[in-house]
Amino acid sequence: MPVVLVAIDVPLSTLFDYLLGVDLVAEVGQRVLVPFGRKQVIGIVMELAESSELATERIKSVVQVLDGVPPLPAELLTLLRFCSDYYHYPLGMTVMSALPARLRAQEPIMIRQEINFGLTAAGRALDLATLPKRRVIQHRILQALHTNALSGIQIRTLSASAPANLKVMIEQGWVESTTIPPPAAAAHTFNVVHTPTAAQQQAIEAVTQTQGYRCFLLHGITGSGKTEVYVHLMNHALQQGKQVLLLVPEINLTPQLENYFRSRFPDAELVSLHSGMSDSERVGKWLRAQSGQARIVLGTRLAVFTPLPKLGLILVDEEHDSSFKQQDGLRYSARDVAISRANQRSVPIVLGSATPSLESYYNAQNGRYQLLKLTQRAAEQAQLPQVRCINTSNIPLQEGLSPAMLAALAERLQRKEQSLIFINRRGYAPVLMCTACGWLSGCPDCAGKLVLHLKDRRLRCHHCGHQERVPHACPSCGNTDLQPVGIGTQRVEEALQTHFPDARILRVDRDSTRNKGSWLKMRQQIQDDAVDILVGTQILAKGHDFPNLTLVGVLNPDGALYSADFRASEKLFAQLAQVAGRAGRADKPGEVLLQTAFPDHPIFRALRAHDYDAWAQVLLTEREQAGFPPYVFQVLLRAEGKQENEVYTFLKCAREAAVKLSNSVEVYGVVAATMAKRANHFRAQLLVQSATRKDLQQFLRAWRPLLEGLPAQKLRWSLDIDPLDF
Ligand code: ADP
Ligand code: ZN
Ligand code: ZN
Repeated sequence: MPVVLVAIDVPLSTLFDYLLGVDLVAEVGQRVLVPFGRKQVIGIVMELAESSELATERIKSVVQVLDGVPPLPAELLTLLRFCSDYYHYPLGMTVMSALPARLRAQEPIMIRQEINFGLTAAGRALDLATLPKRRVIQHRILQALHTNALSGIQIRTLSASAPANLKVMIEQGWVESTTIPPPAAAAHTFNVVHTPTAAQQQAIEAVTQTQGYRCFLLHGITGSGKTEVYVHLMNHALQQGKQVLLLVPEINLTPQLENYFRSRFPDAELVSLHSGMSDSERVGKWLRAQSGQARIVLGTRLAVFTPLPKLGLILVDEEHDSSFKQQDGLRYSARDVAISRANQRSVPIVLGSATPSLESYYNAQNGRYQLLKLTQRAAEQAQLPQVRCINTSNIPLQEGLSPAMLAALAERLQRKEQSLIFINRRGYAPVLMCTACGWLSGCPDCAGKLVLHLKDRRLRCHHCGHQERVPHACPSCGNTDLQPVGIGTQRVEEALQTHFPDARILRVDRDSTRNKGSWLKMRQQIQDDAVDILVGTQILAKGHDFPNLTLVGVLNPDGALYSADFRASEKLFAQLAQVAGRAGRADKPGEVLLQTAFPDHPIFRALRAHDYDAWAQVLLTEREQAGFPPYVFQVLLRAEGKQENEVYTFLKCAREAAVKLSNSVEVYGVVAATMAKRANHFRAQLLVQSATRKDLQQFLRAWRPLLEGLPAQKLRWSLDIDPLDF
């Protein structure tokens, strides 16, 4: 009897054999309901076979083939097999974690039939001259429908108020829903806004002239018009009838980008995919992509697994951003998976950034990637901001603010221009201290400190979520004089309000933007010039255009310079270059003031000179000497558990096994994680690295089965390939 090999969401590397009854037909990629243990679960058919190697009586039968949606395409299954191999994560779990929740569930999937709209006889006979001119949208819809029927999505692209107008027109008897499908747009509209600059043109041509796979690194300073390059590349792919995948790091940025690309390609169907949408919304969009109808797919990292039968181009914006890396489960890098996918499909991929990751930069230097550079701002009047340092090593600060910073803010207030104060710590102060005995507010369950949130008088752990009331007296000695130490966004906001009582100050951090929609409202406020001073964290750093913002002040960036994480200073540069890019986007010149105790550090020198290359060179030299990525490839074995000794015993055994196994890898010692205890679990890790990916993978193939054999009942452990956080 025929057998199907099924991927199931269980932590085992194998596929599972099931008999396919005579009345059942299944294809590779199809969803099936199968018995597993005492339950019935959903799985994906990965292979078909004539027979099984298992004894027939040991094989169970497929209960049902779920054929409500088309099977997953073979190319996606190939990509998922690759991910499972490369990230050493069980195949079934890899496959399942890539799918929208609805496809993993047993409930039947109801896909809303796409309804199309066409003119009725009355609508066709209607004399447009008799319809008042001010009903602009109705004119537009009628005109569009005269040529052919349109889908709801296509009509929506005509105007935001198109649906409301459509309703009126249906009531009038001019328009009706129809089953006649709209013709697939052969040609599409492309709204040209700018003529590309010479540098943009060069970049566009380099990509469009490529046949097959090639990875490009588009290194362009902030405001150099990378987005415009993407738009032209998309146009090229769309014209050839292809689909485009655009990955972006921030869920916050997707609505904005979605509207922007819609305005440029008004009749190409665009879907966006991110974790903030409902399950049914997500599966609907996924299926639009799978059917080839959605031509542009815009999304955060999970969108890299969207089925795209006509894929012609992949774009990864802000490729250096660490949010492309998933930090649990299948710990994939969406950027790296996108590169594999482009390679597998023989299509070009463009990685864009103002501050490329060192990995990508290194690959561009050694010729694996082709470098495309945009060194000037695209809009003629826009200049790069002037960057200066304020040396804080010998001046008194008031609540973290230097006199020079306060003076610069006062100047902007007078000129009615906006300022942004950037500080990477939310809350009021990072810790509360007793002035008598030195007690510090620590989290009872973590190795971290409790952050003081004065607004609601609570101490909060930003690692595990533990919170408690601010004590009236020191829990250790009873002294009532407890002082906040260090500064956070709330404290800066308060200090600025005291200093500039008339200024309109807006704080933007995870606390103030927690409610849905609040960030959109804030953004509008900023754009409407209803804000004088913004105080915020990295939420503000990314991709927003605030034309009246002329001053960016950065408080206390120095922590990253002596961090244990070797990537901390790389990240700091990217963050500061990005936040600096917010200043002076339009016709007003911008200024950036950095408060630091180390103004001569190469990072600040490079920032002042807007010289990413100089800084990248410093880092590459350091990394080469230290033997760190991108010169080596790493895997981190993490373990955590309630019993500290069990965690360490496990890792020590893992280490011994590794040392015995191979001499083509370098095995470090077992160490505590940066956050040695979190939510009552002790955390430690073991780093292994190798000069080549191939050697590391070969080592992992031998090591993983040994790890699986180690006793670890009360532990959780995981392998992190190409780890970003330590
Ligand atoms: P980036 O993505 O590199 O930060 P953007 O694509 O957002 O840059 O472009 C920055 C600004 O320059 C935008 O306001 C955009 O409209 C403008 N711009 C882009 N390309 C051109 C061009 N070729 N000519 C004039 N202005 C341009
Ligand atoms: Zn005390
Ligand atoms: Zn905690």
